[in-house]
Amino acid sequence: MNDIRAIRGMSDILPEETPYWRFLEQTVSSVLTAYGYSEIRLPILEKTALFNRSIGEVTDIVEKEMYSFEDRNGDSLTLRPEGTAGCVRAAIQHGLLSTPRRLWYAGPMFRHERPQKGRQRQFHQIGVEAFGVATPDIDAEVILLSARLWRAMGLEPQVQLQLNSIGSIEARKAYKAALTSYLLQRETDLDEDSQRRLHSNPLRILDSKNTATQALLDDAPSLQDYLDEGSADDFARLCDLLDAAGVEYVVNRRLVRGLDYYNKTVFEWVTDQLGAQGTICAGGRYDGLVEQLGGKATPAVGFAMGMERLALLLAEQWAEKSSAAIHEQPAVYAISVGDAAYKAALLALEELRNKYPGVQMVLHAGGGSFKSQMKKADKSGAELALIWGEDEVASGSVSVKPLRNATAQGQQSVPLAELDSILTTALGV
Ligand code: ATP
Ligand code: MG
Repeated sequence: MNDIRAIRGMSDILPEETPYWRFLEQTVSSVLTAYGYSEIRLPILEKTALFNRSIGEVTDIVEKEMYSFEDRNGDSLTLRPEGTAGCVRAAIQHGLLSTPRRLWYAGPMFRHERPQKGRQRQFHQIGVEAFGVATPDIDAEVILLSARLWRAMGLEPQVQLQLNSIGSIEARKAYKAALTSYLLQRETDLDEDSQRRLHSNPLRILDSKNTATQALLDDAPSLQDYLDEGSADDFARLCDLLDAAGVEYVVNRRLVRGLDYYNKTVFEWVTDQLGAQGTICAGGRYDGLVEQLGGKATPAVGFAMGMERLALLLAEQWAEKSSAAIHEQPAVYAISVGDAAYKAALLALEELRNKYPGVQMVLHAGGGSFKSQMKKADKSGAELALIWGEDEVASGSVSVKPLRNATAQGQQSVPLAELDSILTTALGV
């Protein structure tokens, strides 16, 4: 049993971390609902062909990161590496594309990459997809709502929006040719990864973290000069809308996305607080994907945010503020000695839970001496200990002991009927 541990890159999210996750999930759900987006829940396993056909054969994900296997029927299945493909598959399959449709989903994704801070093999995304609108007003909407998310999470000062247009598929083809011929003349000066990409997916070289390669790109043809008129107009309109709404952004002409299916608008929200894993949210327009997967041609735009990275940012920030909100400690810890006292405590706690739903009240379990139970009460972080012994049972009362508030008066015995008002005052509930 000793050597059974979690798989590398697949983390347990521990009780002290789940409050961050719940806060993030609740914030996202309420903001998205406010913008008219509905949740869709999708399977984690899909046919491998779905990802090969959507993400693109020569991307990092499909080339080397997918968890694919044959099931007992001999079908090739893949643990989803991202959510858009499955969402589009479901939208086609269930006819969700006939009207403009705003959807979101959340859940685990799987990529076999090198685990490090903010990069795991099982990680979690919340994704947002808007189908059926070709105009950049919807691009502005998804960006605006993402900006609202960071505001609602209190992360706004730490993130920056980067924006680009990668143009139509045709414009990109022309640009790809120009970039390739420029880089072919300098092939030996490129880093190893970029040399490989030059022959498979040259646009990804723009993304290279290698400084020599980046320097080489300074004089390379610019994507901007190859943009088709439609893409350039839409990009100008998007920038105009973001300006009007007061959303700050940086135009980064080297921003491309790792997945093949994007066109026109691409964007990333980045932070400098997470080292190399600085992108917390990435997305863009993917007008060709629905048709590519067998649906009726439908324009679309969307993004996905990385929950681990958001949780890391939030943890740092909340640690600074030493926010009490993250500690899910009980309000009340009840202890008792003797069978009659235990039953009195049990009944009283059930009553209190009826009256104060959502307030955490722990009834000590497992017995033990009065002293050892009191230690547990203290350790629990509870505000109040409620104590039942023979005397309390006999007189129909309970002893109340404040555990945190030094200025409060010490232990007092009160009739059960008065417990209500004491709790209301002590706990502010
Ligand atoms: P990166 O450049 O960091 O590898 P990506 O371009 O592969 O990111 P996307 O496919 O666009 O990422 O996924 C959207 C978001 O999901 C990322 O911005 C990031 O926040 C998160 N993400 C992606 N891969 C991982 C991972 N392996 N572990 C944790 N989060 C991830
Ligand atoms: Mg990646």
